[in-house]
Amino acid sequence: MISGTVIIAAEICKGCELCIASCPQESLGLSTSINRNGYRYATLLKNNCTGCVNCALVCPDSAITVYREIKSAKRSSQSSQPAATQAA
Ligand code: SF4
Ligand code: SF4
Repeated sequence: MISGTVIIAAEICKGCELCIASCPQESLGLSTSINRNGYRYATLLKNNCTGCVNCALVCPDSAITVYREIKSAKRSSQSSQPAATQAA
Protein backbone atom coordinates (compact mmCIF):
# COMPACT_ATOMS: atom_id res chain seq x y z
CA MET A 1 0.00 0.00 0.00
CA ILE A 2 1.37 3.42 -0.94
CA SER A 3 0.44 6.74 0.55
CA GLY A 4 2.00 10.09 -0.14
CA THR A 5 2.39 13.62 0.96
CA VAL A 6 3.74 16.82 -0.54
CA ILE A 7 5.87 19.66 0.69
CA ILE A 8 5.13 22.94 -1.09
CA ALA A 9 7.56 25.84 -1.04
CA ALA A 10 5.06 28.56 -0.22
CA GLU A 11 7.43 31.43 -0.96
CA ILE A 12 8.07 30.15 -4.49
CA CYS A 13 4.42 29.44 -5.36
CA LYS A 14 2.57 32.00 -7.45
CA GLY A 15 -0.87 30.50 -7.00
CA CYS A 16 -1.43 29.46 -10.61
CA GLU A 17 -3.56 26.49 -9.45
CA LEU A 18 -2.16 24.08 -12.05
CA CYS A 19 -1.28 21.61 -9.32
CA ILE A 20 -4.77 21.86 -7.86
CA ALA A 21 -6.36 21.05 -11.21
CA SER A 22 -3.96 18.14 -11.78
CA CYS A 23 -4.61 16.32 -8.50
CA PRO A 24 -6.93 13.33 -8.97
CA GLN A 25 -7.50 13.16 -5.22
CA GLU A 26 -8.51 16.82 -4.91
CA SER A 27 -5.96 17.02 -2.10
CA LEU A 28 -4.74 20.53 -2.84
CA GLY A 29 -6.19 24.02 -2.52
CA LEU A 30 -5.09 27.60 -2.09
CA SER A 31 -4.17 29.01 1.29
CA THR A 32 -6.20 31.73 2.94
CA SER A 33 -3.02 33.69 3.63
CA ILE A 34 -0.53 35.15 1.16
CA ASN A 35 3.21 34.74 0.70
CA ARG A 36 5.78 37.52 0.55
CA ASN A 37 5.01 38.08 -3.13
CA GLY A 38 1.34 38.60 -2.43
CA TYR A 39 0.09 35.28 -3.78
CA ARG A 40 -2.20 32.78 -2.13
CA TYR A 41 -0.16 29.59 -2.31
CA ALA A 42 -1.02 25.95 -2.83
CA THR A 43 -1.36 23.82 0.25
CA LEU A 44 -2.32 20.26 1.15
CA LEU A 45 -5.91 20.32 2.37
CA LYS A 46 -6.67 16.61 2.70
CA ASN A 47 -4.72 13.66 4.01
CA ASN A 48 -5.49 11.47 0.99
CA CYS A 49 -2.47 12.05 -1.24
CA THR A 50 -1.37 8.93 -3.11
CA GLY A 51 2.02 10.28 -4.19
CA CYS A 52 1.11 10.16 -7.88
CA VAL A 53 3.46 13.11 -8.58
CA ASN A 54 1.08 14.87 -11.02
CA CYS A 55 1.25 18.11 -9.06
CA ALA A 56 5.06 18.23 -9.02
CA LEU A 57 5.25 17.53 -12.75
CA VAL A 58 2.93 20.38 -13.76
CA CYS A 59 4.26 23.04 -11.39
CA PRO A 60 6.06 25.65 -13.52
CA ASP A 61 8.01 26.89 -10.52
CA SER A 62 9.23 23.54 -9.18
CA ALA A 63 7.70 24.31 -5.84
CA ILE A 64 6.45 20.83 -4.94
CA THR A 65 8.28 17.82 -3.54
CA VAL A 66 6.37 14.55 -3.29
CA TYR A 67 7.11 11.83 -0.77
CA ARG A 68 5.80 8.29 -0.86
CA GLU A 69 5.44 5.93 2.04
CA ILE A 70 5.30 2.24 1.29
CA LYS A 71 3.42 0.29 3.92
CA SER A 72 3.77 -3.46 3.94
CA ALA A 73 0.55 -5.38 4.53
CA LYS A 74 2.46 -8.31 6.03
CA ARG A 75 5.04 -6.43 8.04
CA SER A 76 4.79 -3.54 10.43
CA SER A 77 7.89 -1.83 8.99
CA GLN A 78 7.54 1.28 6.85
CA SER A 79 9.88 3.21 4.63
CA SER A 80 9.72 6.72 3.25
CA GLN A 81 11.51 8.05 0.21
CA PRO A 82 11.24 11.14 -1.94
CA ALA A 83 9.31 10.36 -5.12
CA ALA A 84 10.01 13.59 -6.95
CA THR A 85 12.10 16.52 -5.97
CA GLN A 86 11.84 19.70 -7.98
CA ALA A 87 13.81 22.13 -5.95
CA ALA A 88 14.33 25.54 -7.49
S1 SF4 B 1 1.11 13.66 -5.45
FE1 SF4 B 1 -0.81 13.29 -6.64
S2 SF4 B 1 -2.37 12.85 -5.06
FE2 SF4 B 1 -0.64 13.84 -4.01
S3 SF4 B 1 -1.17 16.04 -3.96
FE3 SF4 B 1 0.11 15.68 -5.80
S4 SF4 B 1 -1.35 15.30 -7.49
FE4 SF4 B 1 -2.47 15.06 -5.53
S1 SF4 C 1 1.52 24.66 -9.74
FE1 SF4 C 1 3.26 25.41 -8.48
S2 SF4 C 1 3.15 27.64 -8.67
FE2 SF4 C 1 1.17 26.85 -9.37
S3 SF4 C 1 -0.16 26.89 -7.52
FE3 SF4 C 1 0.79 24.85 -7.63
S4 SF4 C 1 2.67 24.98 -6.32
FE4 SF4 C 1 1.99 27.07 -6.82
